[in-house]
Amino acid sequence: MSIITDIMLAHGAAKECAERFDKYYKLLIEWNKKINLTAITDEREAALKHFVDSVSPIDCCKIKPGSKIIDVGTGAGFPGLPLKIYDSTLSVTLVDSLNKRINFLNEVISELGLTDVETVHSRAEELAKNKDYRESYDYCVSRAVANLATLSELCLPFVKVGGYFVSLKGPKAKEEIAAAKKAVSVMGGSLEEVVGYSVDKTDYEHNLVIIKKASPTPARYPRNAPKPAKEPIG
Ligand code: SAM
Repeated sequence: MSIITDIMLAHGAAKECAERFDKYYKLLIEWNKKINLTAITDEREAALKHFVDSVSPIDCCKIKPGSKIIDVGTGAGFPGLPLKIYDSTLSVTLVDSLNKRINFLNEVISELGLTDVETVHSRAEELAKNKDYRESYDYCVSRAVANLATLSELCLPFVKVGGYFVSLKGPKAKEEIAAAKKAVSVMGGSLEEVVGYSVDKTDYEHNLVIIKKASPTPARYPRNAPKPAKEPIG
């Protein structure tokens, strides 16, 4: 038993699932020596701030089994890969613009024997124009990639009408929501709910910003890089 398995078992993971998290952690630490993947290397901290935090959309948004999910700017796999490990029925696409991170993810997927999880080396701005990806997901998730206005432009185009964009944010979620009001609406979104949660019983506030896709995103969005980041709508 390791700290990772203990924490994930306590969080409701089955034994096999908790062991997969442990293997993922070991690969993360090994690869982190060669490429920059995470600043969080302490085992307990990684379990809480990476794994428990990443599965919060399942705990808080009641993501239905079998849902199709895309993670934009996944980095070392957060939150998309823990979501897949925690609920193996999910179909997950992991997107990142840095190929080194995609190579790491491919190794983790192969070592853990995961199926129905795809990695894509692309900028979200380009991938969202591909008809195989555009408006084809039940959920788009994203953590620590950009402010909410920019993210709405990058993420909402992937979501089917009736689906959700779930953004994992910190204590400044309310300010970001106010600044992103116009971008959310232009992209066809509508703010549904903000769910606060804690991963380690400290006062640090985590927030899931849940945005419903109410109508199709106009074809001209997302704009080409670097516009969504440099000139956020609003
Ligand atoms: N989501 C991970 C997490 O929470 O640990 C990684 C966060 S890291 C700070 C941001 C990641 O987003 C990087 O891996 C970067 O390459 C990726 N990224 C930034 N802009 C992107 C874009 N427009 N399209 C795809 N990936 C992007």
